[in-house]
Amino acid sequence: MARMVNENRCGVETQSTETEAPGRPSARWGPQHAGAQELANLYSPGKRFQEWLCVVLCFSLMAFNFIHILANFHLGHLCYILLSIVAGILTADFASGLVHWGADSWGSVDLPIFGKAFIRPFREHHIDPTAITRHDFIETNGDNCMLTIVPLANMAYSFLTLSPAEIYRHYPWYCYLFALAIFVTLTNQIHKWSHTYFGLPRWVVFLQDCQVILPRKHHRVHHVSPHETYFCITTGWLNYPLEKLGFWRNLEDLIQAVTGEKPRADDLNWAQKVK
Ligand SMILES: [Zn+2]
Ligand SMILES: [Zn+2]
Repeated sequence: MARMVNENRCGVETQSTETEAPGRPSARWGPQHAGAQELANLYSPGKRFQEWLCVVLCFSLMAFNFIHILANFHLGHLCYILLSIVAGILTADFASGLVHWGADSWGSVDLPIFGKAFIRPFREHHIDPTAITRHDFIETNGDNCMLTIVPLANMAYSFLTLSPAEIYRHYPWYCYLFALAIFVTLTNQIHKWSHTYFGLPRWVVFLQDCQVILPRKHHRVHHVSPHETYFCITTGWLNYPLEKLGFWRNLEDLIQAVTGEKPRADDLNWAQKVK
């Protein structure tokens, strides 16, 4: 299969128009793509409400936990805190890859409720990668906020019910969970920034250049059809080692052998939609 990237050589993502059949031009990528338009129209008021609710709950819990983490800080924990933060970031990067790989490679938009709510954005993103740059804060971050609500609520409950001695003992674990929750929550915002070529704040570009968050050039590797590698989109730290290990390929071979399902069949169907 021909490999194509939907960005030009300056790294700026573009919409490509190719003629699929004589006299019938169709957009291969971008907002004019027939599949992209259909997917964008499936974004419903119910989905919007779910995203709002998740953002409000998640950020309230995050603020509550942050205050308690600061209030329980002890200098003696510093080493463990730093280790916990690095481990939390690595776990978030791996989790972003796993969820992204799972949604890109398996399932279908036609699945009841789940398909339209959670698989649709992944399909839209491959055929209209710049759509994410037009999404507002709620649409960009709603689903990731949903993932961290339960662990953050659990942590808040611990801060309210445990004794100071117990909190002291579990403190590095809370730092790990909090770093993990922050990076999971921000993953799609970081992903959005990796597609944004104009008007980014300087501190965001600095963090991208230091690879503290997903750099733009790095994420372009994933946006080469058929989108089969570099799934990690938080920091991207694990993409190279996982690619060298053939991690995603081996996992796909195993699943295909057991279920007979072909990875990315639904993704390919959407990419080929012309009307
Ligand atoms: Zn993808
Ligand atoms: Zn992307």
